Amino acid sequence: MTPARRMPSPVKCASISRMEDIYCFAGNRLDRMSERRRDRDWVRSLLDDPASRMLPLYDLKPAVRDTAQPALEWQPVERWRARIEAGATCIFLGVDGGRAHFAIDATGADDGSNAASDNVDVRTLAPLIAAGEAAILAEARSLIDWHARHGFCAQCGTPTDVESAGWTRRCPNCKAHHYPRSDPVTIMLVVRGERALLGRNKRRPGRRFSCLAGFMEPGETPEEAVRREVREESGIRVGRVRYLAAQPWPFPSTLMMGFLAEGISEEITIDPEELAEARWFEREEIRAMVARAAAGEDDPTQLSLPQPIAIAHHLCRRWSTRLDEI
Ligand SMILES: [Zn+2]
Repeated sequence: MTPARRMPSPVKCASISRMEDIYCFAGNRLDRMSERRRDRDWVRSLLDDPASRMLPLYDLKPAVRDTAQPALEWQPVERWRARIEAGATCIFLGVDGGRAHFAIDATGADDGSNAASDNVDVRTLAPLIAAGEAAILAEARSLIDWHARHGFCAQCGTPTDVESAGWTRRCPNCKAHHYPRSDPVTIMLVVRGERALLGRNKRRPGRRFSCLAGFMEPGETPEEAVRREVREESGIRVGRVRYLAAQPWPFPSTLMMGFLAEGISEEITIDPEELAEARWFEREEIRAMVARAAAGEDDPTQLSLPQPIAIAHHLCRRWSTRLDEI
């Protein structure tokens, strides 16, 4: 399957008093009901409820209904009963409209209808499905991937057991609890008057520029991480930092936190380990790059930006169209 449609425009989340843009992988409509996950009888009753739905992921790729409009293929839980009882990773995602939603690690399952080649990786699929569905998919992908890589106690090495409907692993030996993690990343558009700073990653060929970004480290605030990353990667000093929006990024489990940052120095000195180049762009130039990326243009000879699946696109869009200023 090839991507046929572009990412829909950001949606407004009406349930939040201060209306805000929701980007791909955000806007999950499920009620996670985290206070009830530990109630095994309640979770079992949901698994026995014929209204409940299951999303199988094969090697982290979801089952997809390949119609004119691709959609996640939610299936009856009953179809997966034997696999659940055999101990496959099964996660309670939440409830929507009175129906419980689960995900299961179906890797290696031979159920006839879903050859691995029929499934689409999450990055390709996400822009093609409804925004809320992409957010549920992010939740499922991050969780199943975490379980696949965290089968042993980090404290004593013993194989751990799944608890809380897939939201905890517990060590039967030392009794430690282990919880799924999200790794915070700061991503920022550094602006200075009518110009903004973009960098081109060493690993990215062509003329694709993007916002600077980096993982937060233990013992620092997001604002401190913004200032450190920008200084390390470009040599630019940052003054004010303004939070704009965030986006879950399930590869494997990152939280992208987007900022505008005030550049208070001019001269760029790139970190050659990270960047091939960095430079100041005029606001008009960035607006044109945003338009090309939104139109899905992919001409390697043209300056380009990430497509609308990524929050970097929206940071650039918001500043270049004067929706936001530092
Ligand atoms: Zn242990």
